[in-house]
Amino acid sequence: IDVSKIRNFSIVAHVDHGKSTLADRLLEITGVIKPGNENKQVLDKLQVERERGITVKAVTASLNYTYNNEQYLLNLIDTPGHVDFSNEVVRSVRACQGVIFLVDANEGIQAQTVAVHSLAKRNNLVIIPTLNKVDLPRANPENVKAQLKSLFHIEPDTVLSISAKKGWGVPELIEAVISRIPAPTVEVNKPFRASIIDTWHDKFRGIMCLAYIESGSVEVGENVRWRSDSKQHVLKYLALLRPHEEPIKKAVAGQVVMVGCGPKGGGCVGDELLSFESADGIKVASAPAVKHMVYAGIFPSDQSQHTQLSDAIRKLALNDSAVSVTVDSSPALGQGWRVGFLGLLHLDVFTQRLLQEHKAEAILTAPSVPYKIKVKGSKAIKQFKGEEAIITNPLQLPDSQNIEEYYEPFVIGTIITPVEYIGAVTTLCVDRRGTPLPSSAVDDKMTMMQFILPLSEVVIDFHDTLKSLTSGFASFDYQDHGFHPSSLVRMDVLINGLLVEELTTIVHTSRLEYNARKLTTKLKEMIPRQMVQVAIQAVVGGKVLSRETIKAYRKDVTAKLYGGDVTRRKKLLKQQSEGKKKMRSIANIKIPRNTFIDVLKR
Ligand code: GDP
Ligand code: MG
Repeated sequence: IDVSKIRNFSIVAHVDHGKSTLADRLLEITGVIKPGNENKQVLDKLQVERERGITVKAVTASLNYTYNNEQYLLNLIDTPGHVDFSNEVVRSVRACQGVIFLVDANEGIQAQTVAVHSLAKRNNLVIIPTLNKVDLPRANPENVKAQLKSLFHIEPDTVLSISAKKGWGVPELIEAVISRIPAPTVEVNKPFRASIIDTWHDKFRGIMCLAYIESGSVEVGENVRWRSDSKQHVLKYLALLRPHEEPIKKAVAGQVVMVGCGPKGGGCVGDELLSFESADGIKVASAPAVKHMVYAGIFPSDQSQHTQLSDAIRKLALNDSAVSVTVDSSPALGQGWRVGFLGLLHLDVFTQRLLQEHKAEAILTAPSVPYKIKVKGSKAIKQFKGEEAIITNPLQLPDSQNIEEYYEPFVIGTIITPVEYIGAVTTLCVDRRGTPLPSSAVDDKMTMMQFILPLSEVVIDFHDTLKSLTSGFASFDYQDHGFHPSSLVRMDVLINGLLVEELTTIVHTSRLEYNARKLTTKLKEMIPRQMVQVAIQAVVGGKVLSRETIKAYRKDVTAKLYGGDVTRRKKLLKQQSEGKKKMRSIANIKIPRNTFIDVLKR
């Protein structure tokens, strides 16, 4: 294979702007699939992707195309459609030299359009601006071209127009991919080195990887090594994905291929595969860490399901290198896990896959963000070896007198909205402790607003609120903006004076009164009356912020029976004692497990 005839590219777009439909057309034109409806959206493999219409996993397809009597190898590297999956997006983008930047000619620029454009810019990729859905009667290509010019300085005469659905303009688009995107710059004569873009688990063959060969070449049977490990492996599997596997004997720099070293062969996203013989001088270095933005507890709905759920989470985590899983336990919910995600959509997709692909029933606790603290003085507190620590579980927060500074994660939120909602959007964002950045006009009807927002305010129902405030017309996306100093405290809940561990939260001081009141009233509504009085308190540093009381009440389950029927009476008492097993007992107060589930659930 001649490297100058390889093109590695990706399609990026806002959700629903036609990525999958275009991918199908490309597969048809290059002869991979037959035209027709049978093979619709071949690249969207997962059930959750089909249902939600979003792409979660990066999938690749190597396509042959003849242009000007020359044979080209086009590697379409499908990237997930949302920045939540930035981990996956960035890996796949690293193997690309250009992108088809797709914008719906009817809807125009949306929040994710802005996000994917800046991703492509940041990675110095050639951008092929392409308007899709020009077959729609309401499509307004001229207006969207003007939007592209005003927001991204894209010249209208460089913009292509297509209909992915009808296939209009697709051959011209492929020609633009060949003529505008450069061949990969790789070192063919250096030792073999490939970076891993994606991994998945194969029952029989072990971990399979999608790899971008950055230098050299490799053949089946050669000795290889992971950058993260000094052990020698044999390259067992090598194939092109079209997207079905097509085994090959040899692959060279610039290609995107499937590799595998067998059941014990290893492999993970971000790692590198090296030629064993020439990797002597290369230091073992661990794969770069993933940055988790959202954490949630996952518990079996019933402890008898623990093994099953454990199995399901393990399998899913193998296919999703971006989650972090640690064991967790809660007095009310039993043994479970604390799982870190890249963002909210990632969390949603993970739990949906857990249900669909593994039929595992799980309880999901309310998501929380990681906080950072700076510990006072030079002598760090025992459990924190450094001076700074990331807190993913509020219970781990040390006493406030030992903390010099608190930090919380912030994001830059991008909102594209019709101008009539500017006021409502501003109010929402300021309410959520947002700081406005300058806005820019998209056209005379739409505007792009940006805010620096605390992530904790975005993870709970921000998107839904925005949608309902703007009748569904605004779109939202966010990008990490790092940790900022913040005024935070730990809030505990006490029931008759005893700490309820699972209800401890970290709260911004401006939100304290509101959260305390909300939590105690909610608990008062949900906890059934008991034989003794129940006091519910929200407490910060020994100070009670809110208190509710539930009066005592004697619950006599047998009262409504008229003496006689002993068996029924016994049965009722037995039912009551079984009910108790589902109770969490705090200070002799029995609280149904459901109460915690409902309070903690999203
Ligand atoms: P994705 O989320 O970017 O992968 O978008 P899809 O490819 O799933 O397309 C979203 C919707 O737009 C689907 O209902 C498609 O049938 C439709 N669609 C995609 N391309 C076109 C097009 O060129 N014309 C029309 N009329 N509809 C299209
Ligand atoms: Mg899609």
